[in-house]
Amino acid sequence: MKLQYIFTLLMLFSSVKCLFSQSSFPFYGASIEPGTKQHFTIPIQEGTTTTSIPITVFHGIEKGPVLGITAGVHGYEYPPILAGQRLIKSINPKLLKGTVILVQIASLGSFTKRSPFTNPLDNKNLNRVFPGDAKGTISEKIADFITTNVIAKSDFFLDAHAGDAPEDLTSYAAYYSNTSMPEVSEKGRAMAASLLFDHIIVFKTDGKNYVKKDESSLYCSAEAFKRGIPSVDIECGKLGGVEESLVNKIEKGVLNMLLYLNMTTISLTKAEQKDAFLYIDQRYSEESKHNGIFYPNKKSGDYVKKGMKIGEITDYFGRTLETIYAKHSGLILLILGTPPINKGDTIVVIGDVSK
Ligand SMILES: [Zn+2]
Repeated sequence: MKLQYIFTLLMLFSSVKCLFSQSSFPFYGASIEPGTKQHFTIPIQEGTTTTSIPITVFHGIEKGPVLGITAGVHGYEYPPILAGQRLIKSINPKLLKGTVILVQIASLGSFTKRSPFTNPLDNKNLNRVFPGDAKGTISEKIADFITTNVIAKSDFFLDAHAGDAPEDLTSYAAYYSNTSMPEVSEKGRAMAASLLFDHIIVFKTDGKNYVKKDESSLYCSAEAFKRGIPSVDIECGKLGGVEESLVNKIEKGVLNMLLYLNMTTISLTKAEQKDAFLYIDQRYSEESKHNGIFYPNKKSGDYVKKGMKIGEITDYFGRTLETIYAKHSGLILLILGTPPINKGDTIVVIGDVSK
């Protein structure tokens, strides 16, 4: 009788344990055991050109959702890449529920060659070729791998960027929103809030054809949203720099988002919450009509009133070609911070803060 009782208890215990315990996670031919992490170097080849994608997969001890994270989609945007390096240590798979797939440096060619915006292996901007093409150029193949093996496996998605070499940028979190996808949009909003930035940009996608699937998403995180995955961006860092406090901010934000998504077994700790955010759902950008030299009068984070002087463009002999004035009042999210300017370049992006 007593033995039977113990046996029943044991059976009960193991079935409860079974409910929460994980099976292994398949990734790129490997089988990752619960409570462990594994690094992958994914080779990508096009003709005689080769590159690779460094990826870390953290497979939690308990069942839970899959969070996909990409850093280095632009390889000159360093704070997210360095935050990813720190997350290798600070995400503990033994305290994780679910799985984190972390792409350390998506555009490694851009990183190793110190090339802003584009990958010099094919001169393409990785964040303009999603969902990619398995038979395409190097960047298109990278996008295809990330779409198929990271985004398609994710329940939640984060793409982390910074101001590229010439971009003086105000740090923010952003989320995708569409009135036909209220739940996915709201989940994205809450994820963006859990990243603990002061400013949250709303990427409104109503009327954008790619959401209705008849156009390519082009952007990494837009591909996730198109698939019905709550999707957020980070923009943190400026002018191609490496500010310690901004690297910390990204690392802390991601760890707080893991808490918010209930992806950690530390149940006593609650996700930190901020009281107030500034939501910006309208942005105005100004493009250059000239080639020449740009002299900014303002910095990222400055508030401007319509009509204020933003900067001046001269030709290569110091003669003024145009004085740039703010066409809208608001917060400068981005302003060109280095001298070269070309026709069509974005000079400034102003966020509407009137709401
Ligand atoms: Zn970027």
